Amino acid sequence: MITSPPSAEALQRFPALARHSRTATRLHPRPADVTMHDSHVGGPLLWPADEPWPTCGDKREVEDQVPLPDDLVERMRAAAASRRAGQPVDDGPALDRDLRRAVGGGYTGWIETADGRTVGQRTLWRRHQPRNPLLPVAQLRAADVPDLPRPKGVDLLQVLWCPAQHKGPPWGPVVRLRWRRQADVIDPLTVQPVSEVDHPRYALRTCRLSPERVVEHAPLAELPPRLRQEVESWNANYDALAVAPGWKAGGYTTWPTTGFRPTPCSTCAGRTRLALVIATSECGGGWSSGDREPDEPTGVLIGHYGAMRIFVCVRCPGTPFIEDIQ
Ligand SMILES: [Zn+2]
Ligand SMILES: [Zn+2]
Repeated sequence: MITSPPSAEALQRFPALARHSRTATRLHPRPADVTMHDSHVGGPLLWPADEPWPTCGDKREVEDQVPLPDDLVERMRAAAASRRAGQPVDDGPALDRDLRRAVGGGYTGWIETADGRTVGQRTLWRRHQPRNPLLPVAQLRAADVPDLPRPKGVDLLQVLWCPAQHKGPPWGPVVRLRWRRQADVIDPLTVQPVSEVDHPRYALRTCRLSPERVVEHAPLAELPPRLRQEVESWNANYDALAVAPGWKAGGYTTWPTTGFRPTPCSTCAGRTRLALVIATSECGGGWSSGDREPDEPTGVLIGHYGAMRIFVCVRCPGTPFIEDIQ
């Protein structure tokens, strides 16, 4: 059902926005039990028993604790006592140098552990050993999510990721997509592999979806210059009215961190389409979030309270995609 979102107010004021409109399907995830046959977030996938489950062997961030030699800990305690007493710390620069040397590359600081030990901390980039089975992020049936862009002949999108901070852009979870025909999965996998979760906020609560179709308008950065000027002087928060917040498929997205960036397909250089937004929060811009919908239903935290956006090219073989975090 197409509802009357805040974007309708902008359209009433600027009828020219009609040429810069798209529908999107807001997903409205809410914690609930689901089955492998539903559209959902974080639930079991409809997966052929004879198809290998994707795994990750990339380098990811690991917090490491390094025991420190007793004499160094003594010097650190003496320095802390001097600071507390308001005395100068003569040993300061040498102590800092020796501490960094003892901890090694990736030094981030030191802490007192719960059992009273003083340890150094460092961040390392390590490969998963063994490879890490990916975690289900979302399963979207085209019948439930009409604005999902998809290649011909398929009716299901499955999104999986490796729940860790990985080395290299966009410095987040490694994402894989699977497109299928539900009817092809005759013998589904009943017990799915368990992922090691390095980053607890990349583990998702299992949620059922309540899809809602809405009309969105292009954000300021994608409007022609004159219309952009008029709209901007009418309402400086136009983008929040024009583009729905939260998890959704299709429609537009904004670029609050980097400013607008084109997302050409890596294979054909043509335009990609926004397939899915994986958002920290469901709220913003006066858009209805439904009855008693929690602000962060899935528990996921992306970037600095932002969202991951997945753009796809449905024309190219293999359906190339781009992931971006803002
Ligand atoms: Zn990984
Ligand atoms: Zn392409």
